[in-house]
Amino acid sequence: MSLSAQAQEKKANVVVIGTGGTIAGAGASSVNTAAYQSAVVPVDKIIAAVPEISKIANVRGEQIFQIGSESFNDERLLKLGKRVSELLKQNDVDGIVITHGTDTIEETAYFLNLTLKSTKPVVVVGSMRPGTALGADGALNLYDAVLVASSKDAAGKGTLVVMNDEIHSGRDVTKTNSFKVETFRSPYGPLGYVVEGKLMFYRLPARPHTTQTEFDIDKINSLPRVDIAYN
Ligand code: GLU
Repeated sequence: MSLSAQAQEKKANVVVIGTGGTIAGAGASSVNTAAYQSAVVPVDKIIAAVPEISKIANVRGEQIFQIGSESFNDERLLKLGKRVSELLKQNDVDGIVITHGTDTIEETAYFLNLTLKSTKPVVVVGSMRPGTALGADGALNLYDAVLVASSKDAAGKGTLVVMNDEIHSGRDVTKTNSFKVETFRSPYGPLGYVVEGKLMFYRLPARPHTTQTEFDIDKINSLPRVDIAYN
């Protein structure tokens, strides 16, 4: 086997599932950081815009939806979860990245954190600015997300959200601001950081997730209705 073939073999296989959001967004001009159309750029084009990714993993894209994340509903959440579960069972898949709108990234990440039955890394990622904007954050967020999804260090830590150089637990993370790139916060802080292609974990999730919970995405075909009475 040639050296380059050996190097190729060592790289993790990561599937990037596209669902839409600002990371798939485009604005009319480069100064449009807040006014733009989300969910228009196909996932393969988002991946191709970050050629550095091919040096760290064998990546392939899969477009499951092209929506703003406010359009997630039970049906879509279950479809996404079941597809992720199916991919995680394949020997030739080492990790999954899901590109997602930021408005409901925390709901999807928490849902997967509770229902997936695998220790392989699953990372949900988005961006606050479209790829067309000055200071666009999606390319680095995607690079970091693929790096985390490729890493054995990220295995067994539940579903993760990677944004703005930080690795958050899907259980903890919440969006706190509608335009700042540092919007994602966890009450107990991020689990770790990603800097220049290296990830560093500083703490572990202590609460049950994925393989430790009573919920199994493969066995869930509908979600119970829960009404909220605001007071
Ligand atoms: N509202 C859109 C969504 O959540 C765009 C916001 C974003 O991705 O930052 O998909």
